[in-house]
Amino acid sequence: MTAGRTVPVDEATARTLLPPASVYIDGSYVADASGEQHDHIHPGDGSSLGLWRLAGAQDVDRAVQSGAAAQRVWAGLAPGARRDTLFRVAEAIRSNSLSLAAVASLEMGMPIRTAVAGTLAAAEWLAYYAGWADKIDGTVAPVPGAHDYAVHEPYGVVGGIIPWNGPAMGLCVKVAPALAAGNAIVLKPSDVAPLSGAMFAQYATEAGLPPGLFNVVPGGPDVGQSLCTHPGVGVISFTGGNVAARSIGAVAAQRQVPTLFELGGKSASLIFADADLPRAAKLAAVLGVAQNSGQGCFLPTRLLVQRPVYQQALDIVEKTTTGFAVGRPFGADTTMGPIANRASYERILGIFDRVAAEGDGRLLHGGRALGADLADGFYLEPTVYYDVAPGSRLAREEVFGPVLSVLPFDDEDEAVSIANDSEFGLAGYVWTEDLRRAHRVAARLAAGYVSVNSMAGLPPAAPFGGWKASGHGKEGGREGLLALMRQKNVHVAL
Ligand code: NAD
Repeated sequence: MTAGRTVPVDEATARTLLPPASVYIDGSYVADASGEQHDHIHPGDGSSLGLWRLAGAQDVDRAVQSGAAAQRVWAGLAPGARRDTLFRVAEAIRSNSLSLAAVASLEMGMPIRTAVAGTLAAAEWLAYYAGWADKIDGTVAPVPGAHDYAVHEPYGVVGGIIPWNGPAMGLCVKVAPALAAGNAIVLKPSDVAPLSGAMFAQYATEAGLPPGLFNVVPGGPDVGQSLCTHPGVGVISFTGGNVAARSIGAVAAQRQVPTLFELGGKSASLIFADADLPRAAKLAAVLGVAQNSGQGCFLPTRLLVQRPVYQQALDIVEKTTTGFAVGRPFGADTTMGPIANRASYERILGIFDRVAAEGDGRLLHGGRALGADLADGFYLEPTVYYDVAPGSRLAREEVFGPVLSVLPFDDEDEAVSIANDSEFGLAGYVWTEDLRRAHRVAARLAAGYVSVNSMAGLPPAAPFGGWKASGHGKEGGREGLLALMRQKNVHVAL
């Protein structure tokens, strides 16, 4: 920690940057939205940020209709015009990254420096997909006696539903490919983080994005259902948990609309005895515990360590974990902030009690709420359990909090078998200096994303998405673009 660090934005300034409304439709904030009145609590100290009206079914309807009208014009523009507009939007998000990060830190408690980095990374997604807008080509099929070609066309209005754990990234991974593909998007942020979305849309409008193409209707599951059931929504792109996914999937099946699902995970990090242990074990603790207070879908929350280096790894993990500076989101030295809301905080405290009672693993560090001067917010101790039983609930269920489970293994077969013994298949991490083992294990892991000797984050050019209960479809790269387009085949007899 560097003494005397300053924060990019302080909390008092951040509170002056909050948006005037949470709903944004047709290029304007909607002050009289039709949903419930929402008192938003700052997880950093339990104080109220103010009252916001969330979206209701009427707002969803207006948002979809305005999106459909704007999309008809947008899809007819020259691809280069869409490209230039989206580049301007990306630039606007970059240049307003401090304000956007400040509001994200207030609404869900992310440390301000992490939030700034997240907003800049999210702007990269917009710039990346801006570049795709004029490069969407088709194919020609070798059909005798005909010129037979296939083109990709937008669906019209994308219904985007996002969680709360990374407002900027969660939003841009949906908005960027949707707009580049020639769609409009109606985005429904979670009521746990309902404030950032409208600000993104405002900056996009100011950068020249035509009104209606990017509408924001925050709210709870009922608002999500209004969006999914709306006949004007042509494709549903959902990020969240499996309970919501089942209900959204049922609606999509009834309506026969395609879905893209980015769901939960319980990803394993495999440290082999030949790995760069100090780096691997330290990063395992940083990414598995402290990063966004463990509230990340593809974080390595199970740490599997080969027995000869198991005790050494535990020592490094413990030392690293005790060194985390848990504190206020706007604290100069904070490396781990609070949990995003009271419900999640209490749910995780319940997991601590359950693990203590059922003995799923042995406590290495943490396992309690943080009291003293942090008792007013939703702060938890960074927590590590070791000797976790592979079949236990702790080893199998997503915690979505600062909790790492460490398990030993003997050989490669056992490591792969434990890693794959999960309903989820979002990510896997391999730590080894043996190149052949790295590729072999990467091929054997049943997960949509594998990272070797690192964590890549979410580069926009790489297709990201889970297997099994972690979802279907990809975000990122060409695949992420085509997921929001439908193909048309044209047969011209010669
Ligand atoms: P959640 O499933 O409770 O909610 C996600 C979104 O869906 C919210 O906007 C919510 O209001 C909405 N929603 C909930 N029920 C709905 C319903 N029945 N119909 C329509 N909409 C509904 O999840 P959460 O608690 O907000 O987020 C945490 C979950 O998201 C975790 O499981 C996490 O792993 C997952 N996640 C996945 C990724 C990924 O890319 N794979 C990224 C971030 C988070």
